[in-house]
Amino acid sequence: MLSFDDGPLPGYTDRVLDVLRSTTNEAGAPLRAGFFTLADNPQGLFRQRRVFAPYELWTRKGSMARHPALTRRIVEEGHWLGNHGGEHFWPRWPRFRDDAGIIETLGEWESVADAVVPAWRNQPLKLARAPYLVRTGAWCRAVSACGYRDVVGLTTGDAVPRADRHGVERHLLDRLARHQQREAADARPVILIFHDIRAITATHLGDWLVALGEAGHPLHDFDPRKLSPTGDEPAG
Ligand SMILES: [Zn+2]
Repeated sequence: MLSFDDGPLPGYTDRVLDVLRSTTNEAGAPLRAGFFTLADNPQGLFRQRRVFAPYELWTRKGSMARHPALTRRIVEEGHWLGNHGGEHFWPRWPRFRDDAGIIETLGEWESVADAVVPAWRNQPLKLARAPYLVRTGAWCRAVSACGYRDVVGLTTGDAVPRADRHGVERHLLDRLARHQQREAADARPVILIFHDIRAITATHLGDWLVALGEAGHPLHDFDPRKLSPTGDEPAG
């Protein structure tokens, strides 16, 4: 199952949506994915440095507030919309060390999502994914208090610096092979984490999906209910 973080961003998210529209699931219908979006991207370097992780490299991120039509397209084409925080906050900054700070940023995301695409509420589950996949105690308590299902998955390497098409492909197939060895008796699908703000992903997603198929990994419609009700895979 495929998921995409940090969008929506024009020039990237739309190309990812185009690839998904021309990719079929096992029933022959367009493949559905999960998009863990941001309410807005902090504007200006000073503000970004106060929100993002100290090591953050990709300061150009998505925004539902700035790109409402693209956000609506995600939902209208049958994909899931998940909460990746109001902004892409670093959970270790003081303001996010307690539950209230996290609940506030989850609420900021909901306000923008409600204004832009209220139909997101029709989803059978409210989904959240921690920015940087850093699941602090405060994060876990806050998502649970707000009625979210916390969704992790396997990173694909598309966000590492100087990622290239073949490096990501090798990383992806290697991670899946190791996962299968470890969980040999577990036939449930796994969630892969891509980033729909990265040029490499917009350009090569289609190639990677072909490689997955050739390696014997079928694509499933994104649906976290196919996973166990408590934690799924270890994050990262
Ligand atoms: Zn992210």
